[in-house]
Amino acid sequence: MALSLSQIKEKSNTDEEIRKVYKMIYSNEFDEKTKPFQAFIPELCFYDNILLRGTRIVIPADLRLAVLQAAHEGHPGIVGMKNRLRTKVWWPKMDTDAEKFVRACKGCTLVSIPNAPTPMKRRELPTESWIDVAVDFLGPLPSGHYLFVVIDYFSRYKEIKVMKSITASNTVSCLKEIFSRLGFPVSITADNGKQFICEEITQFCKDAGIKVYNTIPYWPQQNGQVERQNRDILKRLKISRIQKTDWKQDLLDYLMMYNATPHTTTGKPPAELFFRRQFRDKIPAIPTLNSSIVDEETRDNDLMNKFWGKKYSDAKRKAKADDIRIGDKVYVKNTVKENKLVPNFNSTPHTVVKKNGSDVQVENDETGQQYRRNVVHLKKTEGQWKVINTAGDEETSLEQNNEHHT
Ligand SMILES: [Zn+2]
Repeated sequence: MALSLSQIKEKSNTDEEIRKVYKMIYSNEFDEKTKPFQAFIPELCFYDNILLRGTRIVIPADLRLAVLQAAHEGHPGIVGMKNRLRTKVWWPKMDTDAEKFVRACKGCTLVSIPNAPTPMKRRELPTESWIDVAVDFLGPLPSGHYLFVVIDYFSRYKEIKVMKSITASNTVSCLKEIFSRLGFPVSITADNGKQFICEEITQFCKDAGIKVYNTIPYWPQQNGQVERQNRDILKRLKISRIQKTDWKQDLLDYLMMYNATPHTTTGKPPAELFFRRQFRDKIPAIPTLNSSIVDEETRDNDLMNKFWGKKYSDAKRKAKADDIRIGDKVYVKNTVKENKLVPNFNSTPHTVVKKNGSDVQVENDETGQQYRRNVVHLKKTEGQWKVINTAGDEETSLEQNNEHHT
């Protein structure tokens, strides 16, 4: 059963440990029970009566088993299960509890043959989802079914279709169904090239503008990914067989677990990278606080840039304004421009005769005419701005214009 936030709230209200943490945070009352929490005080807070560590929910003792059960659905391994929990929930010694839970799982124990170490086969990660896609067939299963496995190389997002037979037209239907929801990828890499060599599939891909790669000639090492994934799927099928459960349902649980659990290589849940939103499963999470990690990072950077960028330009503008004093030679901005080649500033030097904050009175050095301008429309004639009253005026003006823009 998925845990609701109201269940957590209810349990938190009566949980002795959490009550004591509350007193520790808000009244500085320390207790033996709150010791495991003390190191995390700066990260702890209460949100709607739910204790949070950062954006993760602190699960009351009574509900921890239920959360562990939810996190083990689909039979993730120890690392996967810990990652799955870590993104949303926390309690003292959660990792140890997760390890114990996996070791106690009968299904996992029965299939836990020591994995042969897989050679590291790194390939450059595509920069977007759904560009490079790997496809493979698994089977036949004892029931005679085949599994059609599609994996996105960037996000590691995975889809599995159960097929009764792997004829070309069935394969095309499967691809069509998947692409109807996710769009066409740029390329497909087929592990077992033979199904993808036939006319019907080749034509379908060609029409869709999808390049089909067969492993050996093009990209020899890339399908290590698929092989690893297939081993993972087989593990679940074996568990279902041992436990005599419905393997099709178990496969869906596995997919849910897989797509929602941070991937060891990318560090992000595949579904989150793929859809750019949090993938809701049975593990409770604060929806707004814990929304996509990727987006949060982007949003924070954006906010920082806007904040510091504004401060920076404010400081620059202020410096400019303070820079101009009575007696200074300045150029005055052309407020009306007849065409694009007219420089931003008039090339005739002016002298500052009066200044009241940003309100500045200037006098045209040639005509003696005086007028008021805001300080932002003035530019000192020093430095890169040379006063030239002679013939080359037009040329100089254009240079000034360029300088102003660069
Ligand atoms: Zn298990």
